Amino acid sequence: MGRYTAAVCRLCRRSGEKLMLKGSRCLTAKCAIDRRNKPPGQQVNRRRRVSDRGLQLNEKQKARNTYGMMEKQFRVLFEKAEKQAGITGENLLVLLERRLDNVVYRLGFADSRNQARQLVQHGHIMLSGRKTNIPSCLVKEGDTISWREGSTKNEYYKQLQESIGSITVLSWLNLDRQNIIGKVTSLPTPDDVDAKFDGKTIVEYYSR
Ligand code: SF4
Repeated sequence: MGRYTAAVCRLCRRSGEKLMLKGSRCLTAKCAIDRRNKPPGQQVNRRRRVSDRGLQLNEKQKARNTYGMMEKQFRVLFEKAEKQAGITGENLLVLLERRLDNVVYRLGFADSRNQARQLVQHGHIMLSGRKTNIPSCLVKEGDTISWREGSTKNEYYKQLQESIGSITVLSWLNLDRQNIIGKVTSLPTPDDVDAKFDGKTIVEYYSR
């Protein structure tokens, strides 16, 4: 599956919001949004009215870019959300949160979702005792997220052992800081998701 490889700060500038794609750097004065909150490319001084369609597109792009997904992959997840009972926008939020790379990020194993995706792809992470290299697989209640034994010897893991004590995890996750093992204690609800986008507007985008 392809992925966006250009400068990610452009994605924030295009959406006009901090999408927190670079981890701790996003909290420093180096953040491109804090320094220069303008769309990338040639600057036009007059204000442009954004159509409803443009607003819907921006909302969808914010969600897609926050979770680092390509359009086709995002669309497939949206269709899955549509088939589930309940409100499609809320189902979509929950499905996005259940992605393994997101859970690795939420547990504090990585500084950003992008870094979490790399940890999974490089085979450092075990899902319920099984090695997996698929960042998009969806966790379920009771799943554990741990480190492959060989990966516990690398420098990154040793640094994590020192910093893991300060990590705060969301209510649907549990973190055993001693052994650096995460557990999905329940599936997330829309209220658990600090979403920077509106699921209803994304539904409107795909409904046309
Ligand atoms: Fe976005 Fe982070 Fe770049 Fe700021 S530093 S523009 S929040 S990716």
